Amino acid sequence: MQALEEILKHAEFSISQATDLKSLDNYRVQYLGKKGQLTEYLKTLGQLPPEERPVAGQKINVVKEKIQALIEERNTVLINKLIEDQLVSEAIDVTLPGRLLNVGSIHPITKTFNELKHIFSKMGFVFMEGPEIEEDYYNFTALNVPPLHPARAMQDTFYFGDGLLLRSQMSPVQIHAMKKMTPPLRMVAMGRVYRRDFDLTHTPMFHQMECLVVDDSVTFADLKGLLKQFLHEFFETDAPIRFRPSYFPFTEPSAEVDMACLNCGGKGCRICKNGGWLEVLGCGMVHPNVLNDVGIDSEKYRGFAFGVGIDRLTLLKYGISDLRSLFENDLRFLKQFSS
Ligand SMILES: [Zn+2]
Repeated sequence: MQALEEILKHAEFSISQATDLKSLDNYRVQYLGKKGQLTEYLKTLGQLPPEERPVAGQKINVVKEKIQALIEERNTVLINKLIEDQLVSEAIDVTLPGRLLNVGSIHPITKTFNELKHIFSKMGFVFMEGPEIEEDYYNFTALNVPPLHPARAMQDTFYFGDGLLLRSQMSPVQIHAMKKMTPPLRMVAMGRVYRRDFDLTHTPMFHQMECLVVDDSVTFADLKGLLKQFLHEFFETDAPIRFRPSYFPFTEPSAEVDMACLNCGGKGCRICKNGGWLEVLGCGMVHPNVLNDVGIDSEKYRGFAFGVGIDRLTLLKYGISDLRSLFENDLRFLKQFSS
């Protein structure tokens, strides 16, 4: 009996000292296993006098149950500790502030491109592209500007030699279109054009949109209606529009289109140079020579066209005063358009 008490005391101490599940299991084997200390005791029961056996057996069982209970208790403590340690070591600190993302913005010129695409695709126009390095023929000759024609001086062109140049307008794409397609046709071309010019209102590279309609019955009135719808939708205004006679070699008659100043409503201000009108674009009926040259019978078909500076549209729409700020990539300027 004394020895059983000793075993229980030992077991209590060792089990309370077990720091992990493995050592706890070792103790379980040591006391309760097949060759454990208590099992060995049970084996000696037979040596006792018969009248003492029940009491001794009961006592051994009590000790055995106590040790079992101790082991289970310790097991629960150790498992809880294990979970707690894991929670601490794998914790995510949600109080750490997140990293701010630098959100970009659409460039104002791209915004204008997108709006123009939206407006003209609704009206059923097809969009066409052409090369930026162009043949002299497409940029000038086919547009009723033969070599040595004085109108060539209207545009300061970058020449490569060998009859190649950087296109100075989007009109060559119209020539490509008329050569590829048969009327009726409605097309728009938008892209980069180049001229030798650089100041507050000119950059050597800028963007233009040109629009062409060829059909057997189109009139100047159709052109006027189209331009009115386009300008009013683009500028979100119903400001008055006026046509002034002008000259372009590839259209006849030709006109320049003004819109009442968006800033002062026509009263006169710094932006409209006190005139009350803003020059917006040039247009006209396609010159019969241009149609005939690309193989379209000018007796049967008529066309109208207009060209507009995309950068200029952007300046007017967003009230930007210096054209160069569109090309300087100053983030402080560009971020204003991040909506
Ligand atoms: Zn004004």
